[in-house]
Amino acid sequence: MSFLRMDELELAGKRVMIREDFNVPLEGGRITSDARLEAALPTIRMALDEGAAVILLSHLGRPQEGRFDKALSLSPVASRLSDLLGQEVRLEAHWLDGVAVKPGEAVLCENVRFIDGEKRNDESLARAIAALCDVFVMDAFGTAHRAQASTEGVIHFAPKVCAGPLLSRELYVLDKLMTEPERPVLAIVGGSKVSTKLSVLEALLSKVDQLIVGGGIANTFIAASGFDVGKSLYEPDQLRETQRLIRSAHKLGGEIPIPKDVLVATQFNRDAEAVVRAVDEVDDDEMILDIGPLTAVDYAGMIQRAGTVIWNGPVGVFEFPAFAAGTRAIADAIEVSDAFSIAGGGDTLAAIEQFGITDSVSYISTGGGAFLEYIEGKKLPAMAALEARFET
Ligand code: ADP
Ligand code: MG
Repeated sequence: MSFLRMDELELAGKRVMIREDFNVPLEGGRITSDARLEAALPTIRMALDEGAAVILLSHLGRPQEGRFDKALSLSPVASRLSDLLGQEVRLEAHWLDGVAVKPGEAVLCENVRFIDGEKRNDESLARAIAALCDVFVMDAFGTAHRAQASTEGVIHFAPKVCAGPLLSRELYVLDKLMTEPERPVLAIVGGSKVSTKLSVLEALLSKVDQLIVGGGIANTFIAASGFDVGKSLYEPDQLRETQRLIRSAHKLGGEIPIPKDVLVATQFNRDAEAVVRAVDEVDDDEMILDIGPLTAVDYAGMIQRAGTVIWNGPVGVFEFPAFAAGTRAIADAIEVSDAFSIAGGGDTLAAIEQFGITDSVSYISTGGGAFLEYIEGKKLPAMAALEARFET
């Protein structure tokens, strides 16, 4: 992979625009995890220390394009960032026509997804963003898998482009992980985005030694194995595809285990009562919301025997205390294991923080979808664009 890195460019006195991933979790206007802001700080400090005039750009959530939405304003990010950085980071509401910023200052542009054309990678928007800077730094690994105006389009038109240190480091670690991992390699894929994650399973099957599925994906595997999943979240139209994956695993001499036991509830809410069921005893009006205790012990054992653990997606609805035990068991097993562990995904990181194992995970990726696509072996559009600029 060949692209320019930020430390290879002269930044002093330049207008340096950094594409960040400030898509932080919010609850009632309050940021619930600083992880993504902390991750971005070293790059911002480096640019400021070199005397750059820093323009920060990010999206937040999924607003309707073309209009302002107060709930998804980057305003809380600007204030939190000012605290963390120890200097004011001004939020610029209308920035597309120009940003006033001096060397040593940092300005945060309001949510780029408020602008029409961002998502469809509109060329005139990409050109307008590019015109705001002398150097464009792509440092948002979490959005590198999306070809949008501020992540990919702009790279074609900015005067100079490079990868930021955070992005470079992610790629270095993930590359190493995929080319020379400590074996056996175990991947745990859970969560709720079933259909988007089934494709990653296919790719992982041939790369890892053992695969564990959890959450909505596990429910689809349970259904595909012929068991009733009641009202559980699962993907009925992916059953054949799932059966094919089960057969592929067998052909490769392995097996994707389905949980022996599960925790079910008749309601999806915080106070719902958890009942343990054998996997073949789920009633029509029940939902599977976590793995059961026997399964948790099995999976913890697999983690202990692994040389490398890749984790994306909680294995249960860990936000509800009664259904957190499965995900906690995974986290605890990772904490005591000697394996090289790598985790990615917004909710996975929230679980890791909730269970207090942040320092025990060998590498925490800032990407969710990008993390999965990268380990799947897909070319990330932003990286392809950076490489194309490097070659010319
Ligand atoms: P990540 O953000 O780490 O990639 P996802 O967004 O795919 O993970 O999924 C996380 C969500 O999946 C969590 O909010 C969790 O409550 C939910 N989840 C996990 N297991 C289940 C289940 N069995 N049924 C419904 N939702 C689940
Ligand atoms: Mg998520």
